[in-house]
Amino acid sequence: MTESLKFLRADLAKLAAYKPHPGGASTQPLDLLDTNESPLDLPQELKVKLGNFYQHSLEANRYPDGGHTQLKSAIAEYVQESAELTDQITPNHISVGNGSDELIRSLLIATCLGGNGSILVAQPTFSMYAILAQTLGIPVQTIERQAHNFAIDVEQAQVAISNRSKETTPVRVVFVVHPNSPTGNCLTSAEIEWLKSLPKDILVVVDEAYFEFSKLSLVAEISQRPNWIILRTFSKAFRLAAHRVGYAIADPEVIQALEKVRLPYNLPAFSQNAALLALQNRQVLLPLVTETICQRDLMWQELSNEFASDLQLWRSQANFLYIRLAKAKDQDLELASLVTKLKNCGTLIRHTDEGIRITVGTEAENQRTINNLRACLLSIS
Ligand SMILES: *Cc1c(COP(=O)(O)O)cnc(C)c1O
Repeated sequence: MTESLKFLRADLAKLAAYKPHPGGASTQPLDLLDTNESPLDLPQELKVKLGNFYQHSLEANRYPDGGHTQLKSAIAEYVQESAELTDQITPNHISVGNGSDELIRSLLIATCLGGNGSILVAQPTFSMYAILAQTLGIPVQTIERQAHNFAIDVEQAQVAISNRSKETTPVRVVFVVHPNSPTGNCLTSAEIEWLKSLPKDILVVVDEAYFEFSKLSLVAEISQRPNWIILRTFSKAFRLAAHRVGYAIADPEVIQALEKVRLPYNLPAFSQNAALLALQNRQVLLPLVTETICQRDLMWQELSNEFASDLQLWRSQANFLYIRLAKAKDQDLELASLVTKLKNCGTLIRHTDEGIRITVGTEAENQRTINNLRACLLSIS
């Protein structure tokens, strides 16, 4: 680090800024299958409603509702309805963030900051937990998953949790994704039992970003488990990634802690309105989920049939597939080359640790993905 930047924290030198996918004016048309967004934009009639809201109702000179009153009520109702619960989830059980990324940061600030604890993640998993922890100087403890089904190695996890030696910061937060990204598997009953057995001085974060695809949720646990928090987002099934809206569901006392550390006007009025509109029109938006699931299973079938000897692939409960090369000598090196070749053919996918993750797109996009994979795999072998 140069002399003149001595005011920066030394540990930031080891970190790199998050690399978003290429936005703006791309020189070539790309199928964006790297961030698990919905392949379809909002329907035109909803965009018109949003436009009307901006034109006729929104006061651009006023701060947005910093308490997210209407949105929290609508979210509580949706969460309750989708879990077939009655009267358990109130607006006091909800906190809203500028994407669930903001909520992850808030809960790290509320728990581990200042040497209060470390986080535990099982790799491979969603990268933001470790990235955000590192930016806050919070230690990250990493364990492995079982090779065949990506279930967490519970014994290894228990060793990390039980380690109360002086040299290690105790685990305060365990992050799990249900279903996991990038691997697409839901929590097993053994994993859920383990999470339930964790002591009350550890916060269990269950990230359900893909809930609308898996239709499996642990939200019914919230009323009995004050040390659990569930995260959801509008960025995937609700087609609102541009608006950055996520939410947390937890015991009101945990929610209060998140509310204390967040910025006062964290969510722009336009985004609050878009999320509200999406919820009010969920009967219009969510049927696409069924189509995506169909497309995912079709794609899995076609890839398994055609590339049985080249690709290793897993069943997924989300809107993406996780794939490895079956015969690679150096998995990451060969995958990197495959990802570059695919990009040059017009298919952008995500290269994660020892695997690639392909978002399920429209039927046309998926067909192009399969064709491009065929061409690129041929040129490798
Ligand atoms: C996409 C995703 C999110 C969503 O993040 P936002 O900030 O709400 O867009 C959260 N968790 C996981 C595991 C994801 O894959």
